[in-house]
Amino acid sequence: MGLQAGDEWQPLTMPICDTFVHPMIRTYKRKLKLTKSQEQRISSWIGACRVVYNLALEIKIESWKKLQKGVSQYDLQAQLPALREELAWMKDVDSQSLQNVLKRLDLAYKSFFKGGGFPKWANKRNFRSIHIQRIKCCEHTVNIPKIGDLKLFKDSPIVGHPRTAKIIKEPTGYFICIQCDQVPVKFVSENQAIGLDMGIAHFCIDSNGKFVPNKKHFKTHERHLRIANRSLARKKKGSNRWTRQAKKLSRLHHTIANVRKDFLHQESTKIAKANFMVCMEDLKIKNMSKSAKGNAEEHGKNVAAKSGLNRSILDCGWGNFGILLEYKTNVIRVNPKYTSQICSSCGHKDAQSRLSQSQFKCTSCSHTLNADVNAAKNILSRGTALYRQREALACA
Ligand SMILES: [Zn+2]
Repeated sequence: MGLQAGDEWQPLTMPICDTFVHPMIRTYKRKLKLTKSQEQRISSWIGACRVVYNLALEIKIESWKKLQKGVSQYDLQAQLPALREELAWMKDVDSQSLQNVLKRLDLAYKSFFKGGGFPKWANKRNFRSIHIQRIKCCEHTVNIPKIGDLKLFKDSPIVGHPRTAKIIKEPTGYFICIQCDQVPVKFVSENQAIGLDMGIAHFCIDSNGKFVPNKKHFKTHERHLRIANRSLARKKKGSNRWTRQAKKLSRLHHTIANVRKDFLHQESTKIAKANFMVCMEDLKIKNMSKSAKGNAEEHGKNVAAKSGLNRSILDCGWGNFGILLEYKTNVIRVNPKYTSQICSSCGHKDAQSRLSQSQFKCTSCSHTLNADVNAAKNILSRGTALYRQREALACA
């Protein structure tokens, strides 16, 4: 399989199979415009959930200490009504939200059994959200049980049928994330496909040789972050000045996250609008950092550049970029093995072909190209091959 040398990519005119109709669930994040009393109520709900979380964790720990027995999510759930009777202020909280807390604890335990850290006690800093089970959406409001209508700041309309929501307290205010079922969109395939290679020197490079530069202002923010961190370290923990600086720092983190998100949204929208299908490497980012050695064989000198602080920032960007693209267009993930060593013209594989970080010269046909564009072309041909394969399967 795969495109032959010189085989131009043809626009896709065949019917698109359902496997590629991707956007099924979409999450909308909107800022809430709350009244003082609504804000207090939601804040106290989050507090109540925090209490339930810690109580449940305590029960689980004690039971294990004394009886060497675990307590299941459902056993804990059965104790909730009694707790609500005992603590009157807990009655105000929607029961579904409380049940969800136990589910969260269960997930934390599951991740612990898989080798993650032991579940932490919930505090104001790490526990800042609440799940809402039954919600209704209108144009500028959302309706949640017990509280009623919450106003939203003006934003694009929410499309689809809402399933669940999560209200999060962030440094800049309260936000709601609403998960909606989307009506699958059938794409009419007239646009072309493109291959993307994610890089360090450039954010990404497509198979047509177009570069998306890396935003420089991440560096500026990094500097601000360093200064703010240093300033915090100099203050006495728990003092007024420390608290003020800690708030400032958390706002800064928030701003940086937003700047990055904005950048990712803009770039992914541009690519999604121009292309019917996007082929990307299936990078398991978590594994990537673990298997730096295996990676070194593939990327050569690239690895040195991929380490450090810069890398942690970009890694998160890559993952999110793929997710954003996935709900904006059709994305095909391909095996990233040897994409930087294979010649996109003749298909010859040789590690020697890669002369430097940016140069590629095939040792077999002496085809010369930018190394990243070459990789992007390989990703494209792998993606199109995979697409045709899957389509043949689905339409057989
Ligand atoms: Zn070649």
